[in-house]
Amino acid sequence: MSGMWTLVLNCGSSSVKFALLNPASGEVRLSGLAERLGAPEASVRLERDGGRTTHALRGGAYAEAFDVLLAELEALGVRSEVSAVGHRVVHGGERFSAPARITSDVLDAIRACVPLAPLHNPANLSGIEAARAAFPGVPHVAVFDTAFHQTMPDVAYRYAVPEAWYTRHGVRRYGFHGTSHAFVAAEAAALLGRPLAELNLVTAHLGNGSSVCAVQGGRSVDTSMGLTPLEGLVMGTRSGDVDPGLHDYLARQSGLTLSEITAALNRESGLLGLSNLASDMRELEAAAAGGHAGARLAVDVFVYRLAKTVAGMAVALGRLDGLIFTGGIGENSATIRAATLRRLAVLGFEVDEEANAGAVRGQSGLITAGGVPALVVNTNEELSIARQTEEVLAQ
Ligand code: AMP
Repeated sequence: MSGMWTLVLNCGSSSVKFALLNPASGEVRLSGLAERLGAPEASVRLERDGGRTTHALRGGAYAEAFDVLLAELEALGVRSEVSAVGHRVVHGGERFSAPARITSDVLDAIRACVPLAPLHNPANLSGIEAARAAFPGVPHVAVFDTAFHQTMPDVAYRYAVPEAWYTRHGVRRYGFHGTSHAFVAAEAAALLGRPLAELNLVTAHLGNGSSVCAVQGGRSVDTSMGLTPLEGLVMGTRSGDVDPGLHDYLARQSGLTLSEITAALNRESGLLGLSNLASDMRELEAAAAGGHAGARLAVDVFVYRLAKTVAGMAVALGRLDGLIFTGGIGENSATIRAATLRRLAVLGFEVDEEANAGAVRGQSGLITAGGVPALVVNTNEELSIARQTEEVLAQ
């Protein structure tokens, strides 16, 4: 059967994450990750039929990774059945409130957003270019992390800064993780057995990067990330909110440059900075249980800031019908979920300790005994990108 499979690509500066899946059934035929592209130790890991293989890449960049992928598709006999390629693109600015079929005009618009995402959009563009060369005969679609949040009202997206910064330089809140927030909100509505259009939900995507979103009737009305994915919650190595006066103060006190401070806020802060031990929540929970004071503090600050932010999102919604936990931490850490819900008792959550402890990755479900429902929902960004790609092409 031709046209069954959508290839989903997430191209970073030195990595490509990919999955070949059927948008209708969710079946994954092949998935994998090419890493350290451009370096001598470059490799690609492929997963299929429950098995995993790793190939060295001789230091080649995207093109070589795509050669391995093409050979694998050929070996699987599905190369001619790839009907479309969906690309995750980080920043779509104010131009994109929906996914878009990639044309030269769309590429120009993604290029115009480079100043807003200087690390991510250039990598996304290089990946798209290499993928179009590798898969020239099929349509390519860009699915933007920011698009879902374009429905936010101005009270949520404007910063209280000079207006010209917004009009001339695009300084506003954009939000990220849109694909995941949209996907888990729809899944939660199905689990609750209620139409998404009637629900006011808060979705908490908690992974190495974390953000919270207020979803009203399936539309984003506020989110914790802003101009960049640095704003908001405490993350693995990202600080989340800090005083905007920090840069100037620290530059004067320490002699660090603005870019050094920004790099440290992105890579040496968050859970890693607080604990001075690790950015990985699993490791920190184990260390905290063993009495490590820094790990305990990191976990506590993470939960405190998360609960405060969720409560803020309840204000954005006016009424709260449910809270959803997703992402590596949200789906796997019963401790973080329970601690967050205890802090949020003021909003009417009653944790079901047994259901919460039993909800592990791969199992979505309710974790409250009464009051406002809280749920664990497994996110699936690849499937969501494949479906959005198919929808764009069907239009
Ligand atoms: P992600 O970016 O969505 O893959 O999430 C990565 C984060 O999830 C890391 O901080 C992991 O430590 C965390 N994580 C994964 N499994 C667990 C677990 N069983 N308990 C606590 N944290 C976990």
